[in-house]
Amino acid sequence: MGTTARAIQALPDLLVSQIAAGEVVERPASAVKELLENALDAGATDIVLRLEAGGTSRICITDNGAGIADEQLILAVTRHATSKIASLDELESVGTLGFRGEALASIAAVSQMTVTSRTAAQSSAWQVCNAGGQWAQQPAAGNLGTTIDVRSLYFNTPARRKFLKTENTEHAHCSDVFTRVAMAFPGVGFQLFKDGKLVQHLQPGAWLQRVGQLLPSGVAETGRVIDLAAGDLRLFGLMGEPSESRGRADAQFLYVNGRFVRDKLLMHAVRAAYEDVLHRDRYPVYALFLSLPHRAVDVNVHPAKTEVRFRDSRGIYDFVRKSLTAQLSSSRAAPVETQRLSEPVAAWSVTGRPHDTGIGEFLAAFAPVAQREVQAPIPDLLGHQADASLHPPATSYSSPVSYSESPTGVSSAAAFPQITQVPAKTESGEYLGQAIVQLHGIYILAQRADGVVIVDMHAAHERILYEQLKSAWDGKAQVESQRLLVPLVVPVDPRLIEGVSEAAGLWAQMGFDLGVLSMNEVAVRAIPALLADHDLAGLLQSWLEDLAQFGVAHTFQSRRNEWLAGMACHRAVRANRKLSLPEMNALLRQMEQTERSDQCNHGRPTWRHFSMREMDAWFMRGQ
Ligand code: ADP
Ligand code: MG
Repeated sequence: MGTTARAIQALPDLLVSQIAAGEVVERPASAVKELLENALDAGATDIVLRLEAGGTSRICITDNGAGIADEQLILAVTRHATSKIASLDELESVGTLGFRGEALASIAAVSQMTVTSRTAAQSSAWQVCNAGGQWAQQPAAGNLGTTIDVRSLYFNTPARRKFLKTENTEHAHCSDVFTRVAMAFPGVGFQLFKDGKLVQHLQPGAWLQRVGQLLPSGVAETGRVIDLAAGDLRLFGLMGEPSESRGRADAQFLYVNGRFVRDKLLMHAVRAAYEDVLHRDRYPVYALFLSLPHRAVDVNVHPAKTEVRFRDSRGIYDFVRKSLTAQLSSSRAAPVETQRLSEPVAAWSVTGRPHDTGIGEFLAAFAPVAQREVQAPIPDLLGHQADASLHPPATSYSSPVSYSESPTGVSSAAAFPQITQVPAKTESGEYLGQAIVQLHGIYILAQRADGVVIVDMHAAHERILYEQLKSAWDGKAQVESQRLLVPLVVPVDPRLIEGVSEAAGLWAQMGFDLGVLSMNEVAVRAIPALLADHDLAGLLQSWLEDLAQFGVAHTFQSRRNEWLAGMACHRAVRANRKLSLPEMNALLRQMEQTERSDQCNHGRPTWRHFSMREMDAWFMRGQ
């Protein structure tokens, strides 16, 4: 470039902090996150956050935590100064949200900052501020705890200021951060002020109550509370029902050891669990907390700490996916008319945490349960035991459909279940009631003791068939295969070629005959008959990508499921097919026996219950 060579020199401290600020304080919301985390690490139980102009003109946070001793105030705002770790060993088992000792220094480097703090040992507060590029300390008025007042963010870094969006957008990002943090600390009270107006006031309380205030309305009331453990791993939280899914992925909260993360692996595992009950373009709502020993996860991967690295990522992936899949496959049974939010959830209510350990008690609430494979202290409020989830109810009925007649393992007689047995009377397990009539060729109206049930017969039948197809496949399986006259040569990324031979048996089971030709070419000699019209090269590539990322078992299962769902939809009873009463009742009884029968394969509900109480209210009876 023709510039004169300069001597190497160490950068001034302020410039180093300004460079670091690029990562740590990407936008006002990142500063908000760091400041909230500091307050929590200090053991605060009450936190007030004030934002002005989306955080760009002011972020002020007051907490009632342990405070910073006067002689340490300057250190607190110095780069690489922290009270949270002192050695590599402590870094590897860090239990606080912060540990890098750079947030305050970075924020101060790009703003005008005042820190006011008082510890229990002090009779009055002290304050430092960085006016004029120098830190000055003086006595001040202040309660126990800390107030950090950040003004004019990026006033001295115009380049960064240009990247800011509108005040409303920046405020929305800050508010997202606030929500994420508040969701993980139900025992802490939070207030959020926007330009002087109180917009969010969260009282300390039970987790389920907190989550109900922060998730889209209705989700917490109907969602499934889970608490599962395997070895050192524990997964706690709330899974939104498929029917509460959204068009955007804007209500998905994942935490690792209390820390909000965006982790591809975990997100994929959750997605995979919902795959079977949700249409592709729908996004489930969830708030899930994974906890594991600190040493099993590296949180020091990214300056903002929203990424983590697991020692045993495959094991964690499988644990999360399998436990959630099992949860979603158990039917909700009859809706019980309880107000979920009014019921306390045992074992989950984080109140005051010890000041010196920060999120210690939060994590203790997650502490892995030694020597227990499945932990189930919390009955789901609809009456399920959480441990039932890892052992989905065995399908005890024997299907009336014979699977022996076609190479796909599915008889074409599956067009509609043949009636072999008609249950004579309603037993307690028959929560869908007794069929009365078919409505408009689409719905079945059934009556049960406490009201009526309406069933979408196509949606329900589709799910039944789909589950039957899956178990038929698992039982024997060998898909109908179609040989190609001339083998097709497909180019494959050399990284992925291993996947071809690695899973040889499964490819064959799916109906493929593949051979590795070279480092980057695969010969396709036979394909599943079902795929005759597909773009094979693209398909193979995407399978191999999945294989490399998610492993053999998941890839084959999810692809298999895609096909079987298509077949089920195709074969399910169509509208206007007239059903007899015994046929309708048989369908209801099959639904009760079928996993995931509350949703069709696209995630739509298959049935709804209307209670007598609701109907009485409609007609104002007894009022
Ligand atoms: P880190 O959180 O990684 O240690 P920070 O720069 O965020 O680094 O904070 C530096 C130090 O200042 C912390 O280690 C802590 O001792 C102290 N500190 C920061 N904020 C607070 C607060 N709100 N209450 C008490 N101490 C705080
Ligand atoms: Mg910090």
